[in-house]
Amino acid sequence: MSCENCGPKTGQSVAGQIVSKAAHGAVAIVKTVAGVGLAPSSVVAERREKCRACEKKAMGFCEVCFCIIAIKTARIEEKCPDNPAKW
Ligand code: SF4
Repeated sequence: MSCENCGPKTGQSVAGQIVSKAAHGAVAIVKTVAGVGLAPSSVVAERREKCRACEKKAMGFCEVCFCIIAIKTARIEEKCPDNPAKW
């Protein structure tokens, strides 16, 4: 399972996937710090509660997509990558 927004793209090498993921994460962090594309606070709180209770969370990261949960849950366009999705 991969994250729809930052998972591997078809035909992409492992190195390419790592670079794409790092780029996606860096852009997400910059946008979040700048306050661009943020989800409403009630949505963020609900997502974080579900991540907090999730068995696939480890040290602030999602083990499914390896995103930083604090950033992922704050972005309006993000989705839980689990199957079935938890949020
Ligand atoms: S994004 Fe989904 S799979 Fe990942 S830690 Fe949160 S609830 Fe779990």
